[in-house]
Amino acid sequence: MNYDVIVVGGGPVGCAVARDIAAAGYRVLVLEEHQEIGAPVQCAGLISKRALEISRVPSTVVLNRLNGAVVYAPGENILRLEGKKVYALVIDRRAFDRSLAEQAKYAGAEMICGMRAVKFTYVPEGILVEAKNGEGESCFFSGRLLIGADGHNSAVARWLGIYQPLEKVFLYAAEVSLSEGNGRLAHIFLDRGLAPGWFGWIFPAGNDRARVGIGSPLLGTESKRESPRLLFNQLVNRYPFLFREMKVLQNTSGVIPIGFLRQAYAAHVLLVGDAAAHTKPVSGGGLYFGLRAGEDCAGTAIKALRARNFTLDFLSAYQEKWEATIGQEICCGLKHREVFLEMKNEEISLLVSFLNKPIWQKLILKYSDLDYHSWLAARLAFVPAWASHFLSGGLKNLIKK
Ligand SMILES: Cc1cc2nc3c(=O)[nH]c(=O)nc-3n(C[C@H](O)[C@H](O)[C@H](O)COP(=O)(O)OP(=O)(O)OC[C@H]3O[C@@H](n4cnc5c(N)ncnc54)[C@H](O)[C@@H]3O)c2cc1C
Repeated sequence: MNYDVIVVGGGPVGCAVARDIAAAGYRVLVLEEHQEIGAPVQCAGLISKRALEISRVPSTVVLNRLNGAVVYAPGENILRLEGKKVYALVIDRRAFDRSLAEQAKYAGAEMICGMRAVKFTYVPEGILVEAKNGEGESCFFSGRLLIGADGHNSAVARWLGIYQPLEKVFLYAAEVSLSEGNGRLAHIFLDRGLAPGWFGWIFPAGNDRARVGIGSPLLGTESKRESPRLLFNQLVNRYPFLFREMKVLQNTSGVIPIGFLRQAYAAHVLLVGDAAAHTKPVSGGGLYFGLRAGEDCAGTAIKALRARNFTLDFLSAYQEKWEATIGQEICCGLKHREVFLEMKNEEISLLVSFLNKPIWQKLILKYSDLDYHSWLAARLAFVPAWASHFLSGGLKNLIKK
């Protein structure tokens, strides 16, 4: 074997996993299809302080700190939630990814950019990876363990035939110049017509800049979805008072996988990050969950390397670990998403006006957490006025009253 571990994908999660395994003294190779780590950026860069801490990326990547959000419901209802603490950071995602790649290299991992993994074959003792460079020439690498950190369209997962996310959400987003970018509140737009099955956003990035975007999921057996780019234009036209002076500096698109992967491993293989749908079903954020699952992935890999055991049975410990770390939160998120998808515009509007009272605003601000949405949901469930409406008979009862 050339390497102990081959990581396919030099995104943030792949680099973090490579860093941890290389730091334990193993030969690690990262294959990244793009010429440059961190480019093109396909992210709004909203993370928690917790996520920044576990990434070990310096805080110089932080562009803005957000103290809350303004939620725009269909019609005129607006819920303003402004607290004193910092709920979210807006980061320079390119610098974030590069820092993780530097950490991996510093720990001893080898990194080859412009190299796309195209074929995987089981060989005695491990896996042979065929990768193609920019000229289309094939290179071969072999490793005892293969880690698929290659994003939502993971070639590793497709090869294994074990990847079935419930949904894929297609996003269109842009880095824009906008005076709203100097604010400290995120803007979230909920409207079935505007963002069916998802939401629109503005995340102020400071310095007259903001990240604006919107998503459109392909649900269940649907074969059609709205073009997110069209939805983006509709969002901008719907709220002229916010977007009047907007100039698009850089646009991007991307896909978020949503679901619960029952088996993110095979003999000699582990899947992690977007490749294993380690994302938040409600917001689509994947950096925190990916990095947390990455810790479990690196831990299992190191144990397997020490034990020289890469069997399906041995690697199943990884599934147990990441499920214990983030599995419950993903399951809760999937349930919340189910409720959200059933809501009609009038229900969203009524819910927002219901919550638009100091008592609820205070409670939401106290228990909101960017990474753990279930904490707030659990608190709401214990408030009788909410629980009697929401839990007995669902949201529709709330609307009827
Ligand atoms: C528009 C948009 C906005 C988002 N905003 C946020 C946000 O605000 N906060 C948040 O937490 N999350 C956000 N996300 C999600 C977040 O970007 C992902 O969850 C995160 O990037 C996952 O990291 P990863 O390393 O698992 O995968 P990726 O970042 O997708 O990295 C995978 C890497 O693998 C490489 N690769 C793929 N296939 C191959 C191959 N065959 N061979 C070699 N290399 C390959 C790719 O080039 C890529 O570099 C957003 C996503 C999108 C699309």
